[in-house]
Amino acid sequence: MLIGVLALQGAFIEQENTLKKLDADFFEIRKSSDLERNFDGLIIPGGESTVMGKLLRELGLFYPLKERIQSALPVLGTCAGLILLASHIAGSDTVHFGTLPVTVKRNAYGRQLGSFSTEGFVEGLGMVPMKFIRAPYIEEVHDNTRILSVIDNRIVAVRYQNQVGVAFHPELTENSAIHQYFIDIVNSVK
Ligand code: GLN
Repeated sequence: MLIGVLALQGAFIEQENTLKKLDADFFEIRKSSDLERNFDGLIIPGGESTVMGKLLRELGLFYPLKERIQSALPVLGTCAGLILLASHIAGSDTVHFGTLPVTVKRNAYGRQLGSFSTEGFVEGLGMVPMKFIRAPYIEEVHDNTRILSVIDNRIVAVRYQNQVGVAFHPELTENSAIHQYFIDIVNSVK
């Protein structure tokens, strides 16, 4: 089992550290030739969705990755990664992969609450520490997207088929339950 970590920008090292802790094999995706490797899952980290979206397109990674996600490659998008997966971004015409049927609202907690930590219930996982950094939240889910977690009336974790999206940064806490959940999905479809 091999996981590709999109390593263009943002908090990808922290994702890799969590995967190391869980003994999961991974490699970095930086250029289109990296996609020649066989891999079973994809992690899109937090960072800046506009920058990552631009780099994905410039580097020729955008369409091949979109196609793989649409062909059921398991994907975990955290924070900016969630924004890149979302089918709608509130107040914007921009769509990146657009494969996850949710409407996200960017920088949704306002300037004052730009970053905060809390702990919240995630379906099937129990209480999980959550770190939000200029995070989006999910305003609305579409199709059969399953809501996995709601904090203060805001949806912060969802699953749709092969795709898991979380508004927070699970890789910045000691708790690796979200990554284990993702690895279990990868193993189950492999
Ligand atoms: N605010 C960032 C964006 O819109 C997301 C922040 C993050 O990934 N921590 O892309």
